[in-house]
Formats: sequence, C-alpha cells, structure tokens
Amino acid sequence: MPRLLMASSLLFVFVASAACAHVGAGAGAPAAAGADSAPQRCASGPSSSTTFELVVLGSGGPRGFGRAASSYLVLLGGKARILVDVGPGAFVRLGELGVDFKDVDTLLLTHLHIDHTGDVPGFVKSRDLTFDEPMTFRFFGPAGGGDYPSTKTFIDRLFGEHGAYAYLPKFRNELHFAVTDLPTHADAPIHEVLRERDLRVTSIAVDHDDVPAVAFRIDYAGHALVVSGDLASKNDNLAKLAAGADFLVYDTAVVDPPGSPKKLYDLHTAPHRIGEIAAAARVKSLLLSHIPPMVEKAQEPVLRSVKASYGGSVAFATDCMRIDLTSATPR
Ligand SMILES: [Zn+2]
Repeated sequence: MPRLLMASSLLFVFVASAACAHVGAGAGAPAAAGADSAPQRCASGPSSSTTFELVVLGSGGPRGFGRAASSYLVLLGGKARILVDVGPGAFVRLGELGVDFKDVDTLLLTHLHIDHTGDVPGFVKSRDLTFDEPMTFRFFGPAGGGDYPSTKTFIDRLFGEHGAYAYLPKFRNELHFAVTDLPTHADAPIHEVLRERDLRVTSIAVDHDDVPAVAFRIDYAGHALVVSGDLASKNDNLAKLAAGADFLVYDTAVVDPPGSPKKLYDLHTAPHRIGEIAAAARVKSLLLSHIPPMVEKAQEPVLRSVKASYGGSVAFATDCMRIDLTSATPR
C-alpha cells in the first residue's frame, strides 16, 4: 500500500491505496520509488461514481525514477473529459486505469516542457485506435516565446502537414486539432479558456523563468480544481486564479533554500512559498505533486514548511491517486 505522508489535520483520505497496486515481491511505496523499487500500476476501475473527479496519472518528472511525469485526468459527470498535461508515462497509467478515452477531447498544457507533453503523440494515437469515428482534439496551452513555440505551432509540428507525425490525421480516423494559444504576459488578467454548461476553464500566466507557462482552473458543478504547472510564484498570479478553490495541485520540485540548486528557484516554488500561496488563495486542500527524488526524500520538512503558513489539508501525490472533488473525501 502506498505510504502517504499527510498532515495531522488532513480531513480527507485519498483513495490512492484503493486505486493503486504494486506488482512484484517486495513492492515499495511510490514515496520510496527508485531503481530498486517494483513498478507501480494503477488498478483498473471502478468507474467514477462522482460528478467531479481528479486522477493523478503522473506525480513525478522529469527524472525517471518510478513515477510518471506530470499528467492529470479530470472526470466530469462520471466521464473522462480533460487531460491536464500529458507527461511521459501518462499513456501507461491511462491504459492501466482502463479509462474510456471516448470523451477525452480537451487537453490543457501548462507549458511545453517534455515532462509535461511527452506523451501527447502516444495519447492521440491511442485514442485514434480506440474508436472508429472522426475526432477533434481541443488543445489549450501557452503562446510562444523565446525558444518555445506556441501551442499551435507545437501541435502543427507534431500532426500538421509537415509535422513529425503528419501521417496520423489520415491514417485511420479523420483527426482534427483545434488549438488555442493562451496569454502568457504576467500582467494579463485571468483568461476564460472555455465555458460549456456547468464547466468553466480559466487560465493565468505563471512565472516559470523564461518558459511561457500557464496555470489552469476548472470549475464544475460548484467546485473548483486548480493545477499550477511549474512556476516560481514570485508574483501572486496563482493565488488570484486559485482564490476560494476546493483543491490546488501544486508542482513541488524543490526543497526550501538552500537545499536545491540555486537556478531552480527561478523555475520552481519553494515549499514555504507554496504554503503562502495556498493560504492566500484560501484553498481547502493542497496536493503536492511533480515530486523529484530530492523532495521525495524530504517529505517531512517539506510538509512542515508548507504548514507553517497554510492550515488546510496537505498531501503528497502518488500516481493513480483518485480524488472526489465534490467532497475531497474518498468515493
Ligand atoms: Zn516540469
């Protein structure tokens, strides 16, 4: 059973233990995953019985050490509908879950680093093979800048007429890609990404050094989930987006200074600042994800640092964790 390090005030219990299984003798907890650990697998099903659910497909990245890289599946009304990032390993976790891909038509990319997008082609191909019907994939991600293409260009370089996988859109089913670039200027206001009946998705630019990056908020049926992506949080943009949200998934890629390499603090948020942002946003629950080995080994001090300013519920993510966002309790 995975070991979850949780704050004593944790009011909800994640269902990771029910949703995950480890194969092989002596399987270790994901919290101790490493070269000597048995691989983690997500248990297949059961299908969602709640109206708004989060499944952590990947809680690690970019290092390969037993966790899949960043990826989250969001189920609305019991159906898998949205992927937030599709890092390497997400493809495998999706298969393990036995998730019906049919309604996964919306992909939100926080930024275009490999640990957040590496399994995009694998997912698209897999979806294509699963059903015999034309399909439009809706991608939303940051506008371009510096060394980084816009999301439109990124998808075109994969699946466009001259793309690396130009064959795919006509290989089996007719595939279309509707891609929207999102504002990445630090001063840009919260942007409405899409609105459909009970669903509203918004984004805001976040500071990931020179990498164009956004965070996403998904409001559905009166509850709100926010996924930070990678960011240093030198500004308060994430706190603005996450204000009053039920659940904040925060990329936790460094320990407090000076424990991590100095340059990483321009890319990632130190735990004490994560606590400040969660407190400022008044989110009910906080999930620390995108865990590298250094943070994995320092879970207790990281948790103490976050809790220094944040009094809500905190837990570390594991692959396969499922969270009922309507109650933040097990389903
Ligand atoms: Zn990352």
